[in-house]
Amino acid sequence: MVNQELYQLGSTPAYIRRLFAYGLQQAAIVGPDKVFDFSIGNPSVPAPKKVNESIHRIVDEVDSIKLHGYSMAAGHDGNRKAVADDLCRRFGVDVKPSELFFTCGAAPAIVSTIKALTVDNRSEIMAIAPFFPDYRPFVTANGARFVPVKADTETFQIDVSAVEEHLSANTQAIIVNSPNNPTGVVYTREILQELAELLDRKGKEYGHPIYVIADEPYRELVYDGVTVPFIPGIYRNTIVCYSYSKSLSLPGERIGYVYVPGFADDGAAVYAAIAGAARISGHVCPPTLMQMVIERCAEERPDLAAYDENRQLLYNSLTEMGYTCIKPHGAFYLFVKAPNGDAIAFSEKARLEHNLLVVPSDAFECPGFFRASYCVSNDMIRRALPAFRAMIESYR
Ligand code: PLP
Repeated sequence: MVNQELYQLGSTPAYIRRLFAYGLQQAAIVGPDKVFDFSIGNPSVPAPKKVNESIHRIVDEVDSIKLHGYSMAAGHDGNRKAVADDLCRRFGVDVKPSELFFTCGAAPAIVSTIKALTVDNRSEIMAIAPFFPDYRPFVTANGARFVPVKADTETFQIDVSAVEEHLSANTQAIIVNSPNNPTGVVYTREILQELAELLDRKGKEYGHPIYVIADEPYRELVYDGVTVPFIPGIYRNTIVCYSYSKSLSLPGERIGYVYVPGFADDGAAVYAAIAGAARISGHVCPPTLMQMVIERCAEERPDLAAYDENRQLLYNSLTEMGYTCIKPHGAFYLFVKAPNGDAIAFSEKARLEHNLLVVPSDAFECPGFFRASYCVSNDMIRRALPAFRAMIESYR
């Protein structure tokens, strides 16, 4: 006997993974230059030079026992201090090293936070659709109720009145992901302020805080001079789940953190419960080497030029062909209307007729669109344009 929900999750790979695997398989058959894979969000820009230099230095300089040993569960002191200092400098919020808990990336950070805030099986965790597909199983497999709420599908900003309609006395938290996967939209300060006022008011009415879980792996991936508001500076009951997977192009190294502000309601208790949740999930002591790298590279930022060039090329080309799409200001995704509204049919046709791999937005619980990840080579985008054109023309 095994847990049926987990069995289903483990035996049915996520849509994006299936497309990605198909792309690799096809590349071996027809040649990599004939497959146009826009499926997965694997960074295509190398990690900053200082990251690799630091790895070499650390391996040469640090005592091997220490380097490969366990760290404290919450992370090395030096690492936590370097990141706290960087956040204080950038966002003018008094972040203390003791408020940071290091994790193996954003996913375990979110899972531990959800676990910490799930009081019983009536607890509800909300997310704004479209959203990162694993939010749903993160919540339900943990025994809480998952409550999706549609974004405003013109702007893909949070629809605050829709959030209000779905709030209940059991709402423990709302997951807010900005810059957003899959839309590339950055939530505005005004919308976040509106959300903060709502959550504050409803929290008082229900007699307990409603937390924002700010999932921020794309925080530094922004274009056109747009800034990403630091949500704890707007709403005190915000728990930040951060990752270096995208910002420093280190998804395979599994490093990130949770930040629980000391000024959040019950902040110390939430932090302790997150530490407990990490413990029972077996997610403690992220790689020591990577923690040491982050200590040296906390101020490093990604080189956005290549992503920006891809963004402009794909957005301008697709809209010129007649596709409809909101211009993304962050992350590395384009969220495009499927020509006749059936995104699954569009994605299947593109795959079978052109080896063009795009993700139907049903995977993000917001049908009618497809996501194209532009963290790919500029050359592949150029070579894929005739396939995108043939696809839209086939619908005319
Ligand atoms: N949250 C979002 C919105 C993501 O897009 C991803 C990865 O693509 C994650 C979380 C998981 O990130 P990590 O690799 O740090 O676990």
